[in-house]
Amino acid sequence: MTSALTHLECPRCAQGYDAQALHNVCTACGSPLLARYDLDLVRRTLSRDALDARPQTMWRYAELLPLQDVAAAVSLGEAMTPLLRAPRLGAAIGVDDLWVKDESRLPTGTFKARGAAVGVSRARELGVEHVAMPTNGNAGAAWAAYAARAGMRITVAVPRDAPQITVREMAVTGADTIVVDGLISDAGRLIAEGCAEHGWFDASTLREPYRLEGKKTMGLELVEQLGWTLPDVIVYPTGGGVGLIGIAKALQELEELGWIGGRWPRLVAAQASGCAPVVRAWERGERRIAEPWPDAHTVAFGITVPKPLGDELILDALARTAGCAVAVEDGQALDELDRLAALEGLFACPEGAVTVAAARALREQGWIAAGERVVLINTGAGVLYPESVRRRPQ
Ligand SMILES: *Cc1c(COP(=O)(O)O)cnc(C)c1O
Ligand SMILES: [Zn+2]
Repeated sequence: MTSALTHLECPRCAQGYDAQALHNVCTACGSPLLARYDLDLVRRTLSRDALDARPQTMWRYAELLPLQDVAAAVSLGEAMTPLLRAPRLGAAIGVDDLWVKDESRLPTGTFKARGAAVGVSRARELGVEHVAMPTNGNAGAAWAAYAARAGMRITVAVPRDAPQITVREMAVTGADTIVVDGLISDAGRLIAEGCAEHGWFDASTLREPYRLEGKKTMGLELVEQLGWTLPDVIVYPTGGGVGLIGIAKALQELEELGWIGGRWPRLVAAQASGCAPVVRAWERGERRIAEPWPDAHTVAFGITVPKPLGDELILDALARTAGCAVAVEDGQALDELDRLAALEGLFACPEGAVTVAAARALREQGWIAAGERVVLINTGAGVLYPESVRRRPQ
């Protein structure tokens, strides 16, 4: 079980980088870098059956992860998350074969733990002592927890409006926490200055290449849980888009391994209408996001990203999979949050609820057909967002 990592590569200009040194984005063109693996080697040395016998954690995909020594991973016990059928919700929105991948069971209550576990583990392996990042809350909370576990210093900058529990989590796990009057983009500027001045390692979304590898395991896992078959549609609540890009990367690698065949699932970027830069660019047929979304605001705080750095990769994943991007109102998402809880017993985060509203809208438009297999990603736990619960005891 050793990593088949070979190098980092720029997906835009194809420049290669030594994976044993620290890198941020491509120095030639500014694109995020992607980890590349010797998939021929993996194909020869690993089978799907052999995987089957491994422990039920994200580290079972060690060959497809960047850690040299998976036994030295910084771990808080990342169980595989359940892929649950949602028949009653499915009946309510007209999708018979509806599933929810429930990421709320991970440490710190969101799928951000996948990225943090791999990102912090790899940073430690490469000798980093101090990481820094802007965050909308959940990423910072996860990275703070894993940094504490690793004995690594961390500085986070977080907008004042972020869910308060996440700010407290960062503080209690010992992160140097800077509260910013502004958005994640403002927090990002502050962190960039701090990195230049103090030599912190910049672990901002997609400026750090390994968090994506952690999030990729969400895609590997869900395909494995479906017995190596592919659903028709996967709906993902998209902010920075790392999870979406990660799922597309998982599909790519599985296809090259010959472990999956046939038509890829259509990937859907679900956004809130108060911050929908991906939807706007998609509808205009653009390959990049030209301008940050103005006055970004939504209850789904984790997807308030006015101008994602991975814009090209997100839009490319939608195009390659014949997917689409769709925006929903906060009110629609909160209605679905109530419905998902009442019909299925799943208390989702508002971001997860955005995927339900998106699936409903796409079904109504006929973009999703009744018999199709649709997987929604609930990225986090509802209990992290007590203020988004409107229903009260009667
Ligand atoms: C960060 C976050 C998202 C968006 O994640 P990306 O992969 O960066 O698009 C969605 N939901 C929750 C709960 C989050 O914390
Ligand atoms: Zn490049």
